[in-house]
Amino acid sequence: MDQMIAVHNLQKNFDDLVVLNGINLELKRGQVTALIGPSGSGKSTLLRCLVELERAHAGDIIIEGEHLCKEGHYPHERVIASICGKMGMVFQQFNLFPHMTIEQNLLCAPMSLKKMPKSKLLPMCHDLLAKVGLSDKIHEMPSHLSGGQKQRVAIARALMMNPDILLFDEPTSALDPELTQEVLEVIRSLGKEKMTMIIATHEIGFARDAANHVIFMDKGVVVEEGLPDAVIDRPTQERTKLFLQKIY
Ligand code: ADP
Ligand code: MG
Repeated sequence: MDQMIAVHNLQKNFDDLVVLNGINLELKRGQVTALIGPSGSGKSTLLRCLVELERAHAGDIIIEGEHLCKEGHYPHERVIASICGKMGMVFQQFNLFPHMTIEQNLLCAPMSLKKMPKSKLLPMCHDLLAKVGLSDKIHEMPSHLSGGQKQRVAIARALMMNPDILLFDEPTSALDPELTQEVLEVIRSLGKEKMTMIIATHEIGFARDAANHVIFMDKGVVVEEGLPDAVIDRPTQERTKLFLQKIY
């Protein structure tokens, strides 16, 4: 299955406010997609719909060939859980469990959701912490870590579930500039390993050199998408040009 995510005519309102106004997209295996656009354009809502943290009102969401949402209708909870189990999400505010050590943060979901014993999970926990450069923090509490370290833990935690797709919602927006690069570097290395990812971000430089697909959203629609050098360096749509002039 080459197609990982397909979205057709997705609509989402909050009361009278139309937030997603007919989104269409297709993401292929190994594609690293940067989702860019002004604040309020619907990036977070789109990502949240993809993992069913929000429900759409109309349209289709198809994850690895299975309908999460079909013409605005959702399947049984069990089916939803199985589909969403293929995806991991990393949030702007890290969302680590503050009362748990880093190790417990990583083991918690696979132990409770996959019923796997700690002994089987520990090697993976060690490998992933090594991968994000935090082996020495395994017994620390989150409050003892910098923002960049917390976010790298959050990425390792998402990877513990062996996701086929990783979604990031502005993973560096809560970080001081000097901590941004260490997180982007981890995401970049996952991209090199052909992890399928979609990253809502304001880091246009990162979008250009680490993504292989860029989607520009505005007012709940996809305005323009394509290769980074096309969308970022040679945008064809006025709205894309204006946005890039403002932030880049
Ligand atoms: P972005 O991530 O691109 O900044 P969002 O998806 O967060 O955009 O928001 C899109 C619009 O939806 C904004 O106008 C925002 O105020 C509104 N919105 C987002 N979440 C909610 C919510 N839970 N209730 C009401 N309005 C919301
Ligand atoms: Mg957002």
